[in-house]
Amino acid sequence: MVLMATIVFFHAHPDDETSATAGTMAIASADGHRVVVVYATNGECGEVPQDLAVDESLVDRRRSEAECSAQVLGVARVAWLGYADSGMAGWPQNDQETSFHRADLDEASAALSSILDEEDADDLVGYDWHGSYGHPDHVKVHPVTYRAAGLARRRPRVLEVTLNRDMLREGINRAREMNLDVDMDVDAADDGNPIGTPAAEIHWQVDVSDYLDRKRQAMQCHTSQTSDIGMFMAMPPEVFVVAFSQEHYREHGRPNGMITGWPF
Ligand SMILES: [Zn+2]
Repeated sequence: MVLMATIVFFHAHPDDETSATAGTMAIASADGHRVVVVYATNGECGEVPQDLAVDESLVDRRRSEAECSAQVLGVARVAWLGYADSGMAGWPQNDQETSFHRADLDEASAALSSILDEEDADDLVGYDWHGSYGHPDHVKVHPVTYRAAGLARRRPRVLEVTLNRDMLREGINRAREMNLDVDMDVDAADDGNPIGTPAAEIHWQVDVSDYLDRKRQAMQCHTSQTSDIGMFMAMPPEVFVVAFSQEHYREHGRPNGMITGWPF
């Protein structure tokens, strides 16, 4: 008998689910698990599309794009904590009172925790200590994830999404050999720290190659975000495969060593 779990994925912005965890989400829902996604922010700092309707805001658009992605990935429920997007490090929006970056840790954690209780969640997926690359909202996801797990009536198991720094470096080198212009420094992200986690400190590698089309389809839902998502869509197929076929997680308290397999 396979036990079905409820897995909550906590993301900073609508679209983050696609590049980081879409393959895992699609596999989990195909296996019969209940997949829930919670967004901390509404993504107000994203690009504003030219084709907004008169009565449509960027937040409306991003929420409906998130619903589209949820449908593609078999997500059972989409929930919003409703904080404002803090923008990239150093942007004035960092200091906005309603930003997630400035949110009270207890308050934000309680909001997430009440969703964990409603769902009786078995697993909670958040981000590594600096959200892989130091975006203020991604950094904040980490402490909120652990605090919320601790507050939940039944403490879920916690996994942290991360990027495999070694694999990323290799992928960028390969792309540059193909004369592609890659504007990314693995050793210095926005916050000055290297991106992601060395392979030696990662616990789970999930091979999502069978669900890569689904992942791409979920990305396509977020068409308003032409620079980030547009860049992924513009990748030559062989680069896209290298960039997105594997998803990586840390699990606090596990012995060292990366297992290629299914964590749930
Ligand atoms: Zn984000």
